[in-house]
Amino acid sequence: MSKHNFEAETGRILELLTHSIYSNKEIFLRELISNCADAIDKARLKSLTDTTFLWDDSEFKITVEADKNNKTITITDNGIGMTWEELISHLWTIAKSGTKEFIDKLKKAKEDSAHNLIGQFWVGFYSSFMVADSVEVESKSWLDTKAHRWTSDWKSDYDIVEIEKETRWTKIILHINEANISLLDDWKLKELIKKYSNYVWVPIMMRAYDSRTDEEKAKEPKIMDFEQVNETKPIWKKDKKDITKEEYKNFYQSISSDWNEPLFTIHNNVEWMVSYKSILFAPSDVNMYKNLSDPNQEFGPRLYVQNVLILENAKELIPVWLRFISWVVETSDLPLNISREMLQENTILDKIKKWLTKKVISEFENTLKNKKEDYIKFWSNYGKVVKEWIHYEYDLKQEIAWISLFKWINNSELITLDEYLEKAPAKKEEVEIEGKKEDKVNSEGRESDLGQKEIKTIYYIIAKSENEALASPYISQFKEKNIDVLVLTDAIDSFLVQSFNEFKEAKLVSITSNDIELEEKTPENKKQEEEKKVEFKSLFELIKSTIWDEKIEEVVLNDKLWTALWALKTPKNGIDPQLEKMMKAMWQTVPKQKRILELNSKNSLVDIMKKEFDSDVKSEKLTDTIKYAYYQAILLEWWEVENIKEFVELTNKFASSYLK
Ligand code: ADP
Repeated sequence: MSKHNFEAETGRILELLTHSIYSNKEIFLRELISNCADAIDKARLKSLTDTTFLWDDSEFKITVEADKNNKTITITDNGIGMTWEELISHLWTIAKSGTKEFIDKLKKAKEDSAHNLIGQFWVGFYSSFMVADSVEVESKSWLDTKAHRWTSDWKSDYDIVEIEKETRWTKIILHINEANISLLDDWKLKELIKKYSNYVWVPIMMRAYDSRTDEEKAKEPKIMDFEQVNETKPIWKKDKKDITKEEYKNFYQSISSDWNEPLFTIHNNVEWMVSYKSILFAPSDVNMYKNLSDPNQEFGPRLYVQNVLILENAKELIPVWLRFISWVVETSDLPLNISREMLQENTILDKIKKWLTKKVISEFENTLKNKKEDYIKFWSNYGKVVKEWIHYEYDLKQEIAWISLFKWINNSELITLDEYLEKAPAKKEEVEIEGKKEDKVNSEGRESDLGQKEIKTIYYIIAKSENEALASPYISQFKEKNIDVLVLTDAIDSFLVQSFNEFKEAKLVSITSNDIELEEKTPENKKQEEEKKVEFKSLFELIKSTIWDEKIEEVVLNDKLWTALWALKTPKNGIDPQLEKMMKAMWQTVPKQKRILELNSKNSLVDIMKKEFDSDVKSEKLTDTIKYAYYQAILLEWWEVENIKEFVELTNKFASSYLK
């Protein structure tokens, strides 16, 4: 016999599980049955290429038996089994990412919210300790000549011993605790199997009900035969109208490890160029069991071919930006021995993928239309992932744009681009409209006419947070004119607006870009501007050379800069500062970017600088002020101050002269 200490953290989880008010203890059976079904799936797949390990035990099944006298529930399967090492590492390790994550969250969680957390956590095998004082697992792997029994009461150690057993199998014996004695009733167990595991397409067997009276049973003891409790037809092969919402939900939870209801379900039976059956689900809330931050993680549907689970994560069938979708697909159109490489080259699968993507987008659209609140919740959790489409989907640009939601300035709700455009003011612009007038033939020989067209613009700002966006010197003129501005705060947004810059003929324009005219200028304004330009020309030259020519393309005046003295703008076709930061963070080389420096003509300091310049071109005070104001502009853009020493020295200089 060998005794092992289990890790302290695991003990802590189990204690929490068993001693907290776990809202749904019943799920232990579903968890264990689903492990059995997985083990059988693996054995079935293995048997395609090698039947020797099956011996004469090729009829796959799971049996569930309750023994009232010994207070045990025993669950047996003839799946792939576990070796000595696997019994230890699989059943008792905390290294599995989900468990580790759970522990981390537990550590952070306050006592009162810990119960809630457990309710959402996918506990797997551990859930058996919610109903049992101790658990025995006997198993023989198809890879091993020996069988083993693993036992634990979870409180202290676990034991593992060698036992006699010829064929591969796994048997789990739960010693049911006093609080859960009612589970030892066959009716109860059947009900639980029907409720949570009906769709498991391996037969789940239980002893048939003995309808005789207790007296009759005592007189003539009889062991009843096993009978099948579940329906083995997989849920995706059933007629949609025969499936209840509850059944879909249970199935979703079993394939996604998600505790919540799905946002929507798409169930399809396609007999066309390729025939397949599938059920897929979108999540409605965060699924803490899935790590979506890394696109290289395993994802994709379970792929069945002729009832055999061929791949657990068929990435080839789903675009990476939909990796939060949980999905099962079954087809008879692929050979059973299909390899990963063959899958990648398979045009049939490519068609399924394209079809699926469209279908999911249209379902998002329906949800957005009919259940907006649910969709907003979904988008706040998964929008970041969906936006990765920008790297992959060229053809579906507009479709995806329709279902995308955005934050906007000073508003907690999210809006669609369409909603934005409804509120956006239109500008009339002269455009060439093709017409029939014979006397108006344009240079390309096409008949044309000049006409008026309503043009709308979608304004956005890229920032790390809404606060950062609100601090931008460029936001004030939009606020004054009541024009909405989208606030793009996700890392991917800079890339998004690079390739996606038009929606329903409206251009997406950054509020820091150079050619924004929210107001028509009067000829009087224009004249004044020209005069000022001439007046300030020499000062601007000095500013440019004081800062460093390489950084500044042009110095100009702007009267819409809120209280800021100066601001930095991106020239037309220049790279947005946020994108520049992102590219640098990703070790990409970014060509040196020049900016346009704007001086706030309404700020009195600008006039004071001008006066100083007029009286002494070489004024040291003036060059100091120029440098300092430039640092301000840099800080307002949340950029790095390169020469922090100079910045501090200047600040001290100004402060001391102020206090004098
Ligand atoms: P999960 O099923 O989410 O991986 P569990 O805690 O339920 O987590 O199970 C841990 C692992 O133990 C499984 O992944 C599987 O490798 C192994 N296991 C559990 N039950 C069985 C079984 N009946 N037959 C073979 N392996 C099993």
